[in-house]
Amino acid sequence: MDVPDEFEMGLANRKAIYSYFDQGVPAAFTIDREHCIYLEKQKCGVCLRFCDIGAIDFEQQDETVTLEVGAIIVAVGYDCFDPTPMGEYGFGRHPDVITSLQLERLTSSAGPTGGHVCRPSDGGHARRIGFIQCVGSRDRRNSPYCSAVCCMYATKAAILAAEHDPEVRSTIYYMDLRAGGKGFQEYLRRAREMYDVAYIRGRVAEVVAGKEHRLSIRYEDTDTGWLGEGTADLVVLCTALVPSAGIGDLARRLGVDLDAYGFVASDPLSPVQASVPGIYACGYCREPLDIPDSVTGGSAAAAKAFKALTGARE
Ligand SMILES: Cc1cc2nc3c(=O)[nH]c(=O)nc-3n(C[C@H](O)[C@H](O)[C@H](O)COP(=O)(O)OP(=O)(O)OC[C@H]3O[C@@H](n4cnc5c(N)ncnc54)[C@H](O)[C@@H]3O)c2cc1C
Ligand code: SF4
Ligand code: SF4
Repeated sequence: MDVPDEFEMGLANRKAIYSYFDQGVPAAFTIDREHCIYLEKQKCGVCLRFCDIGAIDFEQQDETVTLEVGAIIVAVGYDCFDPTPMGEYGFGRHPDVITSLQLERLTSSAGPTGGHVCRPSDGGHARRIGFIQCVGSRDRRNSPYCSAVCCMYATKAAILAAEHDPEVRSTIYYMDLRAGGKGFQEYLRRAREMYDVAYIRGRVAEVVAGKEHRLSIRYEDTDTGWLGEGTADLVVLCTALVPSAGIGDLARRLGVDLDAYGFVASDPLSPVQASVPGIYACGYCREPLDIPDSVTGGSAAAAKAFKALTGARE
């Protein structure tokens, strides 16, 4: 049975027996109870016949494992804001309006299209890509804070798409370009000069369907005050990144505080220290951070936990 693949963001299907993704650790396979014909209707069982090493076990049950630990590191990351309620952008209405995480899968050589940026509507190559920044971020109705990573990853995605197909042209519609980091401004300049990426400072009002797989992006140019209209055959929404769904429950169980936005609150003078001794937090669950800063925080949290467990000096 084919089921929409969660890792491929619904852009491909998987089977009821599957591994979440190839580089997962551990690289374990699982059976999706809700879609397995054997577990649902006691029919099929085809995988039993094909698995020579007898790894299929339909009787396996969930287990609760209790561990005694001396320190806990919370690193539960983020979830992506669902842009469906922001009807003006057409997500869920036009198949060629996708999220940035879906584009991430399309630009991946291990993704469902082998790195070709294709329109979901008909599989044709997307040659004009429009990125809409701050979708749900810096927005009092949704997430008032800056998600911190989308200005840079949109630029990265535009470069990747152009490297894959030199005919691709991308336009990035932004409120402010937040490129705070070593070499980040130079990266934007390179995108403009070498890959013809256009940046328009403008708030997008709506995305409407045009002719022949074209989408119109209507916006106000906030530099000139003029109203403009761009076209694209693929629109990418750079959505807010929000605290992960289960973080409230996890924080209650651990007894740690969350901040006003729902991220794990930490000590400003010891940023990976949560509000309970012996519990540390790192990565995006603490505050919006890119990968290098998340890795740095992970190392700091591991060092703090090591010190707490062994009494080693810093
Ligand atoms: C489209 C897109 C492109 C990006 N591109 C870049 C880029 O090019 N460069 C860059 O530096 N940053 C990029 N980022 C940002 C980057 O994804 C984050 O900085 C990074 O993932 C943060 O790492 P993390 O480990 O804190 O969180 P995550 O990567 O979110 O990892 C958290 C993990 O915890 C798991 N988890 C959640 N809850 C639980 C639980 N209760 N129990 C157990 N496990 C749980 C999750 O499944 C997940 O595997 C991008 C973000 C997006 C959305
Ligand atoms: S029994 Fe095996 S092959 Fe049949 S649906 Fe379930 S997982 Fe798939
Ligand atoms: S990083 Fe850029 S796109 Fe993302 S919320 Fe901040 S300003 Fe908006």
